[in-house]
Amino acid sequence: MNVNQSVPPVPPFGQPQPIYPGYHQSSYGGQSGSTAPAIPYGAYNGPVPGYQQTPPQGMSRAPPSSGAPPASTAQAPCGQAAYGQFGQGDVQNGPSSTVQMQRLPGSQPFGSPLAPVGNQPAVLQPYGPPLTTAQVTTQLSGMQISGAVAPAPPSSGLGYGPPTSLASASGSFPNSGLYGSYPQGQAPPLSQAQGHPGIQTPQRSAPSQASSFTPPASGGPRLPSMTGPLLPGQSFGGPSVSQPNHVSSPPPQALPPGTQMSGPLGPLPPMHSPQQPGYQPQQNGSFGPARGPQPNYGSPYPAAPTFGSQPGPPQPLPPKRLDPDAIPSPIQVIEDDRNNRGTEPFVTGVRGQVPPLVTTNFLVKDQGNASPRYIRCTSYNIPCTSDMAKQAQVPLAAVIKPLARLPPEEASPYVVDHGESGPLRCNRCKAYMCPFMQFVEGGRRFQCCFCSCINDVPPQYFQHLDHTGKRVDAYDRPELSLGSYEFLATVDYCKNNKFPSPPAFIFMIDVSYNAIRTGLVRLLCEELKSLLDFLPREGGAEESAIRVGFVTYNKVLHFYNVKSSLAQPQMMVVSDVADMFVPLLDGFLVNVNESRAVISSLLDQIPEMFADTRETETVFVPVIQAGMEALKAAECAGKLFLFHTSLPIAEAPGKLKNRDDRKLINTDKEKTLFQPQTGAYQTLAKECVAQGCCVDLFLFPNQYVDVATLSVVPQLTGGSVYKYACFQVENDQERFLSDLRRDVQKVVGFDAVMRVRTSTGIRAVDFFGAFYMSNTTDVELAGLDGDKTVTVEFKHDDRLNEDSGALLQCALLYTSCAGQRRLRIHNLALNCCTQLADLYRNCETDTLINYMAKFAYRGVLNSPVKAVRDTLVTQCAQILACYRKNCASPSSAGQLILPECMKLLPVYLNCVLKSDVLQPGAEVTTDDRAYVRQLVTSMDVAETNVFFYPRLLPLTKSPIESTTEPPAVRASEERLSNGDIYLLENGLNLFLWVGASIQQGVVQSLFSVSSFSQITSGLGVLPVLDNPLSKKVRGLIDSLRAQRSRYMKLIVVKQEDKLEMLFKHFLVEDKSLSGGASYVDFLCHMHKEIRQLLS
Ligand SMILES: [Zn+2]
Repeated sequence: MNVNQSVPPVPPFGQPQPIYPGYHQSSYGGQSGSTAPAIPYGAYNGPVPGYQQTPPQGMSRAPPSSGAPPASTAQAPCGQAAYGQFGQGDVQNGPSSTVQMQRLPGSQPFGSPLAPVGNQPAVLQPYGPPLTTAQVTTQLSGMQISGAVAPAPPSSGLGYGPPTSLASASGSFPNSGLYGSYPQGQAPPLSQAQGHPGIQTPQRSAPSQASSFTPPASGGPRLPSMTGPLLPGQSFGGPSVSQPNHVSSPPPQALPPGTQMSGPLGPLPPMHSPQQPGYQPQQNGSFGPARGPQPNYGSPYPAAPTFGSQPGPPQPLPPKRLDPDAIPSPIQVIEDDRNNRGTEPFVTGVRGQVPPLVTTNFLVKDQGNASPRYIRCTSYNIPCTSDMAKQAQVPLAAVIKPLARLPPEEASPYVVDHGESGPLRCNRCKAYMCPFMQFVEGGRRFQCCFCSCINDVPPQYFQHLDHTGKRVDAYDRPELSLGSYEFLATVDYCKNNKFPSPPAFIFMIDVSYNAIRTGLVRLLCEELKSLLDFLPREGGAEESAIRVGFVTYNKVLHFYNVKSSLAQPQMMVVSDVADMFVPLLDGFLVNVNESRAVISSLLDQIPEMFADTRETETVFVPVIQAGMEALKAAECAGKLFLFHTSLPIAEAPGKLKNRDDRKLINTDKEKTLFQPQTGAYQTLAKECVAQGCCVDLFLFPNQYVDVATLSVVPQLTGGSVYKYACFQVENDQERFLSDLRRDVQKVVGFDAVMRVRTSTGIRAVDFFGAFYMSNTTDVELAGLDGDKTVTVEFKHDDRLNEDSGALLQCALLYTSCAGQRRLRIHNLALNCCTQLADLYRNCETDTLINYMAKFAYRGVLNSPVKAVRDTLVTQCAQILACYRKNCASPSSAGQLILPECMKLLPVYLNCVLKSDVLQPGAEVTTDDRAYVRQLVTSMDVAETNVFFYPRLLPLTKSPIESTTEPPAVRASEERLSNGDIYLLENGLNLFLWVGASIQQGVVQSLFSVSSFSQITSGLGVLPVLDNPLSKKVRGLIDSLRAQRSRYMKLIVVKQEDKLEMLFKHFLVEDKSLSGGASYVDFLCHMHKEIRQLLS
């Protein structure tokens, strides 16, 4: 069978088709069109296949359309969902069957023969005989000993460990939202270490694949190494890169760094892959619909799939001082990638392609693999063996955003309806039909690409194969030709074998003294009156199928009957918060349009009813309990929007006490600050997940509210947390309302379960994100929106095959906003390698950082933060040392050689290490840290990228008429010119920094005052002025805000002003007040760690 030769026809559905409304991210916008899913793809209406699970029980009905929901008052049966999809987990990665998939010769990942292993110099042998445990232990201790032997000056500059000396000014910042904190004590001491004199040369224009620097042979503080807990999979990885016999003597002259990795250069070390000439465009493996280069898009990246670097002639490294301009620049890498890869669409037909960076704007054409908007990997070429993986220490992980929003130019996934029989799946591993399945025996059977099981093709699904072995209808069926698509689920995929009702939203409003006093309640009620018209809807539905309900609370709960037949809303008070129940069923959850008058009246009355309240105490757990019970009674999934102001100290389940204690920072007990106070919150969260009840929490604290505990339920139910410290309507309403509007309108999948299947050889072993897991494979999400990601880590359980590659299939079963049960499938094929160089050549640092940050932020729950930091440093050093030892050409030990794809790993990792969670400054509250920790857990790669390394944009350097975003500069004080103004953003915060020598005209144009001194420090809004500069800056601010999922409140910071300290916190290349290292210092430190590992 030969499937590689056919020229792929253009898929007929390559562009958006009105027939398939799919999963419109902006469906509330009111598109017109059919809501009924058409069945264009030869629906398979055959008999129920024998492998289906429990036969449908109970009444089945057609998927509800967007009409009025059925009024249901029966108590929903509680308990585990019966998901037909996930019944067979234990066989998912079982032994492969004896039938082997047929592979074509010549389907190696890069179509280029690899150098025989026998030619490799001994010193570069990537993997020797496996180490015994005893050896490993010996080596491990040897490493530590040798570390101590190395002459090392006392730690001074890097600030790992408690900062010493030099107290600095106290900082009390205006309310900035994230750091809007409360009055603070002293800022942390500032370490005063000097840089490293004698640092040698970096090579700015390092040709191609590796970056090389020559930090000093000695000097630079040494950190304790290997003291932290080991990373997963790291157990014995370290020693293998530090075997003493692998020390290579430096060559007489430093070779050009990384020349072996790419570029048409001279003779190469035998172990490395052939150079560019022989390094053909990636050929397809035996997977994917697109075989061979695409006629229209050719091979977009004919050279080595590195990005951002131009091959150049090798040059010896001239020694000189290490200056910041010469070390790898994030700005340069981002710019290069934009220039090189932002012009052509990214076509997904080729296995193992590294996508453009998240900072590059590009379009995606799905030709058989999921778009990088849905899945990004730490590496697109993964080691064939676990030994190799352990040696390299590069985490194998995918960051998955199953419901990611797409730009308007890209089509939403097609919805495929296979009728009553449901989607076609492998009998054994339950993987869904996808482009990688191989049809055999003339099309009568197919071989599963995940477990190799041979399955019968049901008669209704039968189709002839062409001469290449491909089904002739392959391009008519999304599931045979696209990386991402949806199946309509049958009743077997529904809880209790019943099709779901449309979901409901319940608004639960704190009406205690604080909420009333700040004006929050009035503002919120006013906003809801109009916002309820924009509930998410699907396809062309005229109105949302979502029902709404309202609760207010302080120490007791008030439920409201807003039935359309009532003249006025009715309130029912439940004061027995210890045993929460829902006092009314009929009239609690209503259709907005039907009950508009009653709802409006209620929202008018709420602020008045509680205007004179003196109640300051609140409850919390009973509120969520009530919402969850209401959804249960209505037999639907849904979302609770909770608006809450204070630590819940009223007598009730989940009552909390103020346990904030900053003295715990840098002690072994610090982790308790991140842990919930009581188990009641987790227990409640589990019940919520079982009901499909997602909780979004809006917090308005004036003081400590214990975010670590309050965020447990949102976190475990796939919800979001927003925090507005010291909320004041005049200062914060824009930010709050913007977040609220977006949150209420965004499309959500409810009652979801996600499973990631993999081909034999690797399997998903760890998961990070906002969800709950009751077993080791199923990610349960009461709700999942288009902003949330799940990071999945993979481990080997067998040897992988270079020809077959490795496959991932992410299946998300969920209920749409209209109540339709669906399966969204994302497929991704990766390459596999036997040469470490291939791994390092296909990594993505931004994704690595996403994984490492999430790993570390989870680690602080159980380990001291210092141990977590040390673990990250050690792992990073091991990754880079392994590259140096196995992939870089021999060169002086004084050179730091970084793989091209990872040359930003040190700078980004340093940003993670000195982030507020891992190394808090004095201005960061315990709640801020818990909040950020929670946020990062669900971030996608673009969000972690800008969060850890903020964007700093000079505003007056580019011509005023230029409409494009100004090029960013590096996040360092050195880059600030005091005659300029800058915007800095990190996805959560937005600063406008004004240099002290700014021209008067600029001041006038932007702030409408006559001099720098008259600018109000901490200003939150720029005046609306009719001049080009003002328009441009305000336009840029709007554009930055539009790119982020949360509204960024502006803070104007003047140079030399007290507030500047807060701003400088985000200049992440500099040494931080909390003791975090500067980029230069950290790079030197990293180099020392690497040398330690190599010696
Ligand atoms: Zn299978």
